[in-house]
Order: sequence, then structure tokens, then C-alpha cells
Amino acid sequence: MARLAFEHVEKVYPGGTRAVVDLNLEVADGELIVLVGPSGCGKSTLLRLVAGLEPITGGRLRIGDRVANDLSPRERNVAMVFQDYALYPHKTVRGNLEFPLRMRGLARDEIERRVAWAAGILDIAGVLERVPRQLSGGQQQRVAMGRALVREPAAFLLDEPLSNLDAKLRVEVRAEIADLQRRTGATMLYVTHDQTEAMTLGHRVAVLRAGQVLQVAPPRELYERPADAFVAGFIGNPPMNLVPARVVADAAGGVELRLEGGSLTVDAGTPQARALRAVTDAMVLGVRPEAFADGPGAAGSTVVDVVVDHVEWLGHETLAHVHLGAAAAGVPPRLIARLPGLRELERGQPLALHVDPAALHLFAADGRALPVGP
Ligand code: ADP
Repeated sequence: MARLAFEHVEKVYPGGTRAVVDLNLEVADGELIVLVGPSGCGKSTLLRLVAGLEPITGGRLRIGDRVANDLSPRERNVAMVFQDYALYPHKTVRGNLEFPLRMRGLARDEIERRVAWAAGILDIAGVLERVPRQLSGGQQQRVAMGRALVREPAAFLLDEPLSNLDAKLRVEVRAEIADLQRRTGATMLYVTHDQTEAMTLGHRVAVLRAGQVLQVAPPRELYERPADAFVAGFIGNPPMNLVPARVVADAAGGVELRLEGGSLTVDAGTPQARALRAVTDAMVLGVRPEAFADGPGAAGSTVVDVVVDHVEWLGHETLAHVHLGAAAAGVPPRLIARLPGLRELERGQPLALHVDPAALHLFAADGRALPVGP
């Protein structure tokens, strides 16, 4: 397959909406990149630009080594897979797979070769004579992929392919897509608004907002080192707690992080205290829900006093929705702590949440991540 490269790509719609702004991104040959972001951030527009369904208004798009801006959809040879598979209900699986090849006028033996090849890869050789309603949802999705695969496309474009499936099937088909990508080595650009899908599928994930890529990185790096407060708040479920804070250096070399209704103290001598003492402006403190513990954590852990507002027991873990101890109930900032197992917590109960200073994130007022620690 081929690589895809966006070089300073712009899309301004005729009405004046700037849907894509100076976008740079490279999808390597054989890579699966997930584009994730809230509704309206430009995900579908980007896919349509690659497919050739919308003209690019600035910059360059490369498919393989060719500049594709002015190529027709057909010349680009990319395969788009949508949410509804739109299989022909009265054609057999074989008929569905053959159709795009017949349309292209391929020779009979070439059609048979490609259908057998795709059916083998997708493990649907046993159901070639069935019609779609005799297949499971996962098998239907595979046939839809197969219909794209037989065309031997340069890349696959997937636009929210799982959004019409129920929760259980979604997990199944997600695994199918990952497996298919591995077996075919296909280049894939996959769009979703669902961060779980992005984190579980992407070799790399590009987080989009307002037509711009805020960060593109492997899932683990996005989670551990978000470059921006928006990314931090978008990736992770429940998302990172983000709280306005002020840094006050103490005489002993430590730091107090003052929040509305509470504070955290970072001890002198820690790398975090050293980094924090260099921060002078107001900023936003970020703590992942799972970084909190309701008992003493690692040596040097800092404590924040909170009061429980609401508790969710999920079986394997408990989500405690809390407010800061010195603030009135229900007044922001509200935090979520994710505690392992089943905790007997009650509304109104005071709680001391411990957090390792190494797990703190800091963001400048404009959202940019500030370095904390080594
Ligand atoms: P997403 O897929 O992330 O929800 P879209 O790519 O559909 O976002 O839309 C990005 C922006 O472009 C939005 O502001 C949307 O209203 C606008 N937009 C999308 N399609 C068109 C169009 N055909 N004409 C004008 N504006 C559009």
C-alpha cells in the first residue's frame, strides 16, 4: 500500500468555514492512524479531502509519491468504508465482492483470484454463497472491508465504522479491524469521536480541534504526556481532572499549589518542586483520576483534602466524585478519583487523597503542557 502525507493542508468551504487549518500529518505505509476529536473538528472533511470528494483549498496531499490534489477520486485509488456497510442485500458475499471488479471490467480469472485472496485473508471463504442477512455483524463488516480490499487500494479511509453497532459488537469488530490491518499491512486513516476506539486501535492517534492537529503520538504517549490541556481532557475515561491553580514557592524550597478550596504541597528536594518553582503564572493542574489513592502512596506523596459528593460502584473500581475540602458542596472544581475495588464511601464523607508528585501535570493558561519533574 502507500503512505499518505498532508503538507500544510487547508480546507475552506465555499461559505467561508475553515474546516482544516495548516494541517501536517504523515501516515506511513502500513500504519493505522486514528483521527479523534469532538464533533465539528474537521475529521470527516479530512477523509473527504483524501478520497477526492472535496477539493483541497491549500497545501499538498500526497498519496504514495504522487501529489494527489488534482487527481480524480478514481485515480487516487483509496477505499472509503462508512458506518453502514451498505452491502447489496440480495447479492451473495461472492457477488458483493465481485461487483466492484466487474464494474472495472476485470477479466474473470483476475476477479476470481482477488476474491479468493480477500476471502482467505478475511476468513470468509466459508460464507461466500450466503447473503448478508445470514452473517453476523462482524462478518458483514469483514465483507465490507473485503469489497474495498479486492480493489487493492493505496489506503483505507474509515469514517466512524463502528458507530451503528451495539457496545458488544463494537468491541468485536474493533478487534477484527485491528487484526485485518495486521494481516494486510494496510495503510489506514480511521476517524472517530470515541477516545476508547482511538486508544485501542491506533498505532498513532492524532487529536484534532478546530481543524488543527494538537498532538499526534502513540496512545501511551498521549496518555502519559499530553502536550495540551485539551488532549489531556479528551484522552482517558473518566478524563483527567483539570483545575485552575496558582504556584506559591515556600521558604524551605518546596511549593504549594493553591486551588480554589484546597491546596497540595510538593516537598522541597523533589524534581517536581524544582520545576514548579520556575512557574510564575496562573496555570491549570492536571491529575488523572487513577493517580489518586485514598491511603498513603509512595514516599513524598502529597495530600489533598476533599469531601465525597457522589459515588459510582463499577465492580472492579469505585469512582468517587468529590469537591475540595475548604469549598462548599457542589462548588467547582469537582474532581473524580478512581479507586480500585469496592469502597464503602458515603456522601459528605471527608477523604484525604494522596497523589505522587510525579503524576502531576501542569498546563499554561493557553493550554500548553509545562514540564514538571525530570
Ligand atoms: P467532524 O467530522 O469532525 O464532525 P466535519 O469535517 O464534518 O467535522 O466539519 C468540520 C467543519 O466544517 C464544521 O464546522 C462543519 O460545519 C463544516 N462543514 C462540513 N461540511 C461542510 C460543507 N459541505 N459546507 C460547509 N461547511 C461544512
